Amino acid sequence: MNPLLILGAGPAASLLAIALARHDMPVLLIGRPRTAPAVEGLSQRVVEALKQLGCHEALALLGPRWHRVSSWNAQEVEMNGEFVVDRVAFDAALLRDVKAAGVELHDGLVRELERGEDGGWCVRWEDGEGRLQRTEAALLAECRGHTAPKMAPDRCAGPTLVSLGRTFDGARPQPRTTFIESFPSGWAWGGVDPQGRAHIQVVVQPASVAAVGGDLDLAHAAALAQLTRLPRRFGMQLKPAGTTRARGIQAALRGGVVGDGYLRVGDAAYTCDPLSGHGMFEAASGAIAAVPVINTLLRRPAQTAVAQRYLRERIETVFASRVEAARQHYAAETHWSDEPFWRQVTQPPVASSLARASVAAATFATRPVVEDGFIVERRVVVSAEHPRGVRFIDGIDLGRLDELLQAGAPAGPSDIGHHLHAPADAVARALRWLQAQSLTTRVGH
Ligand SMILES: Cc1cc2nc3c(=O)[nH]c(=O)nc-3n(C[C@H](O)[C@H](O)[C@H](O)COP(=O)(O)OP(=O)(O)OC[C@H]3O[C@@H](n4cnc5c(N)ncnc54)[C@H](O)[C@@H]3O)c2cc1C
Repeated sequence: MNPLLILGAGPAASLLAIALARHDMPVLLIGRPRTAPAVEGLSQRVVEALKQLGCHEALALLGPRWHRVSSWNAQEVEMNGEFVVDRVAFDAALLRDVKAAGVELHDGLVRELERGEDGGWCVRWEDGEGRLQRTEAALLAECRGHTAPKMAPDRCAGPTLVSLGRTFDGARPQPRTTFIESFPSGWAWGGVDPQGRAHIQVVVQPASVAAVGGDLDLAHAAALAQLTRLPRRFGMQLKPAGTTRARGIQAALRGGVVGDGYLRVGDAAYTCDPLSGHGMFEAASGAIAAVPVINTLLRRPAQTAVAQRYLRERIETVFASRVEAARQHYAAETHWSDEPFWRQVTQPPVASSLARASVAAATFATRPVVEDGFIVERRVVVSAEHPRGVRFIDGIDLGRLDELLQAGAPAGPSDIGHHLHAPADAVARALRWLQAQSLTTRVGH
């Protein structure tokens, strides 16, 4: 039986496979590569993750960074640029990186998962020639994106929106630039290149599509007609190069993101509003965060509950912060706040589903943390601002520092530093931080 099987062939699956291979963990990947075209932007942070994991094929595909202009709340702001990729080509390049990392990889469409009597999994899948295959594994990493079968009901699901994307020729040739613009019934993201090829996605409520009888081209044109700045930038001579494509959007946190013999990574765990443009970053950072979890599940099975807790809490915290960031970004657009789209996207999420035990004041608590490639429990400082805890300030382990203070041993920062083999000024800063949290009365200077 294989120790670990990754299902999927998108960024989450590929980056998880590569990250595990870099840590000498045996991996098998089965996935059917994406065929549906999509143009997406990725940030410098994704590029850093690709570099960290040595994804040379994916990096070679990126080309120069595109200039980025945002027109939001009637203010035009030039922002950090982004890289624009054709997702079919990008995912294919990542799969070549997976191969180069020495991972065993099968092009396969997963049909069925079954639980064996020994607690392992039996996965039935169709290979490239349509033959049915069977693979057994002890642990599954579910990375089949937002369509991955659910293990439990969603914990939280935002409104359903629709993205309509269409490519055009004949735009005003200009340096590679992406634009964001809000309008009464939604917002738009567009990119234009020096050849005058433009891609424009509009995000609207499904009702906007229904209003034109479900005709996607008409719905796209109706949204474009509401834009003012973007057409000025792109010019008025846009000629459609193909029809409009629709993609559903819903920020959602899946139930059962980790459980007995499985974990979910990327969109299979939670999806974000693409307003943030963070989906691929979430997939990349989620894959990197899953490595010590998987290492613990496979090599220290006695710590399974701790590893699962770490992953579950990470996913819940990150999801909650992304939902709130998107809501605040939408709320910053005040010109159309009475329009149905803007009223809907500025609603807070259903509170009960994201309810967390609120931390009244900062306190020391035992939490799962990453240490030497494994998940272990350590004392950290938890607070409303840091629900998953802060362990180090300036390299000083706060739990150890607190133990020393409780024991009443050393006097000032330099004595404590001597004890901890750490510089006195770092100890002083950690003491001042604890003081600010009302967790010590010792003076940090
Ligand atoms: C309209 C829209 C615009 C977006 N724009 C951006 C953007 O600009 N920037 C950004 O970073 N993110 C963007 N996102 C989000 C981004 O697309 C996702 O967050 C990202 O693709 C998640 O990666 P993933 O690997 O988890 O899932 P996916 O990319 O969905 O990968 C899932 C993989 O599993 C495979 N698969 C599915 N079912 C099976 C099966 N049964 N058997 C085998 N394989 C299977 C699929 O073919 C695919 O290869 C956007 C999303 C939407 C909807």
